[in-house]
Amino acid sequence: PLDRKELGHYTWGFLHSMASYYPEKPSRSQQEAMSQFFNIFSQFYPCEPCALDFQDDIKEHPPKTESRNALAKWLCERHNTVNEKLGKPVFDCSKVHERWRDGWLD
Ligand code: FAD
Repeated sequence: PLDRKELGHYTWGFLHSMASYYPEKPSRSQQEAMSQFFNIFSQFYPCEPCALDFQDDIKEHPPKTESRNALAKWLCERHNTVNEKLGKPVFDCSKVHERWRDGWLD
């Protein structure tokens, strides 16, 4: 089985990639589907303490699905909440597409 760190690392890669490739102008049904995705994801993420905290966090901060930029920023902030909890550095959310879609521009 994957340990908690490996699972988390791969999962964040998937989630941020999905957000960075979400439509810039999603339809109403795409917006609803993406909100449902995160609600379901938070119920079945296979690390129970992680899932319980994530459920609380997205109850307080529901998914922002009105555009690609809104979703990517929202997810970046959710990841930063976990980073802070674990004592990891906070990520600069203005660089989220550079990291997960366009490639580092340096
Ligand atoms: P990760 O945090 O996995 O990040 C991977 C890469 O994403 C980084 O190298 C960086 O380039 C980039 N990145 C970092 N921050 C951001 C950001 N804010 N936005 C965009 N990109 C960013 N672990 C626990 O021990 N306890 C928990 O309660 C817990 N809850 C979790 C909840 C969820 C929903 C997920 C997906 C994971 C959770 N994890 C938890 C795992 C934890 O977040 C890390 O994935 C794990 O510790 C491995 O960390 P890492 O150093 O590889 O970097």
